Amino acid sequence: MQGQMMNQPLLISSLLVHAERHHGNQEIVSRRTEGDIHRYSYRDLAERARRMANALERLGVGFAQRVGTLAWNGYRHLELYYGASGAGVVLHTLNPRLHPDQLVWIADDAEDQVMFFDLTFLPLIEATASRFRTVRHFVLMADRAAMPKDSAIPGLICYEDLLEQASDDYDWPMFDENTASSLCYTSGTTGNPKGVLYSHRSTILHAYGSALPDSCGLSARDVVLPVVPMFHVNAWGTPYAALMVGAKLVFPGPALDGKSLYDLFEAEGVTFSAGVPTVWQGLLAHVEENGLQFSSMNRTVIGGSACPPAMIEAFEGKYGVQVLHGWGMTEMSPLGTVCALKPGQDRLSEDAQMRIKRKQGRAIFGVDMKIVDAEGAELPWDGETSGELLVRGPWILQSYFNRADTPLIDDRAGLGWFPTGDVATIDADGFMQITDRTKDVIKSGGEWISSIDLENIAMGHPAVAMAACIAAHHPKWDERPLLLVMPKPGKSVTRDEILACFDGRVPRWWLPDDVVFVDSIPLGATGKMQKNKLRETFRGYRLPTI
Ligand code: ADP
Repeated sequence: MQGQMMNQPLLISSLLVHAERHHGNQEIVSRRTEGDIHRYSYRDLAERARRMANALERLGVGFAQRVGTLAWNGYRHLELYYGASGAGVVLHTLNPRLHPDQLVWIADDAEDQVMFFDLTFLPLIEATASRFRTVRHFVLMADRAAMPKDSAIPGLICYEDLLEQASDDYDWPMFDENTASSLCYTSGTTGNPKGVLYSHRSTILHAYGSALPDSCGLSARDVVLPVVPMFHVNAWGTPYAALMVGAKLVFPGPALDGKSLYDLFEAEGVTFSAGVPTVWQGLLAHVEENGLQFSSMNRTVIGGSACPPAMIEAFEGKYGVQVLHGWGMTEMSPLGTVCALKPGQDRLSEDAQMRIKRKQGRAIFGVDMKIVDAEGAELPWDGETSGELLVRGPWILQSYFNRADTPLIDDRAGLGWFPTGDVATIDADGFMQITDRTKDVIKSGGEWISSIDLENIAMGHPAVAMAACIAAHHPKWDERPLLLVMPKPGKSVTRDEILACFDGRVPRWWLPDDVVFVDSIPLGATGKMQKNKLRETFRGYRLPTI
């Protein structure tokens, strides 16, 4: 017997319709590429998204075709999120920090029909326009006044002209909720990037999950500023979750330095933010150097790579900002776990709480996870045993875009599990802790050493800005940890001082065999340390023999 409830498809357009009807006056504030601040309401967003849907039709973009964006976080990008997906067009957000060759490859792979781009990327598009195989129109996301006089881009269209010429009369179509809505490529640290094609259903379910109290805990009273870019897994879903709950949205545009972010947080009364640890480092440095405090921000999600405990301590201890350590992947829309304490844990000692908070957290309902050994046998949740982390759920990918042949689902562990490539422990309370990525783990004499643990400890030293731990070849142990340390500007620290940090905190055989001071650590397009590059640089490194 079937249930007798309405079978209303979960569509992205319904978020916009809801937000306009129930929160029409709610504000969206954007720092524009031009430098000024732009403000309008959800009502204005809805009107312009409808115009965009009509405009795409006029450009000849059909149902399920892809349109690309190269854009910062801002209101025009949001209009495309809703105007394109709402009409059944697939929004493909490209990461402008990738190499131009990779961008062209990705746009070709996705068969993008139109490329929308911010003023910042005009030179990039001018240099590459002739190389895109499928792009028929280029649209500069700017006012008429900002349009270049003569551009090398054939038929360059002005975004504002495009909208002005389109009607705002549009009825959002109804279709199957499993229809594709947006496309995002993984950063491609190994081989060519792979496309992850989200659906309307997966996006809406992810938005529900991310808004839950023990996830991001979003409400209409929140002021949400996603620092994480809209080209990085849909800004972790915040543009959808904010409309779902009716929160004010604030977009930082291209200004992601500590001062610009802090000023915007304060001016707009931001309560909630989200970003990768490397961005928060800049913000914390600014706040610290200038003796500032946050007057409205009360919590932030930090994820994308391990959040150093020293950062959690600084946010929570000095500034009263709760850190929600989160873990996820492009393939997971991206949220998988968030670290929120369970009942009674908030009465534990500060040290004991910190031991929990440095973990990546508990699975959100909708994400099922387990750890397995090399044969796929499930491992115990004892907080000690580590194994490869597998996940499944309605917002986790089934197969990569255009790669039906990619072996994906882990058949060691039975059907339907996605192998994350992360190594983790899970404790009896269900708190998961990433110890490494399978390709970053250091295998010393057959035993695993967690590079993340060693980095976190080194980054706790007040003179250390960043630390990366990689495996260096060792004649006896095969691999041993080599620690690369980038000191904070103007600070100095010695090898012995760094090694002393590990005393009593890790087994003696985990101690890095050597410490090398470096001027910089390469970061990838999403702000993560590029350990593959470091491994290449230090490939022939000879560890001290004593
Ligand atoms: P992104 O989602 O950042 O674009 P990927 O999907 O390429 O990038 O990266 C996902 C990977 O990032 C995870 O598999 C994991 O290795 C790492 N990661 C994400 N969040 C965390 C975290 N909080 N701690 C440790 N590693 C993390």
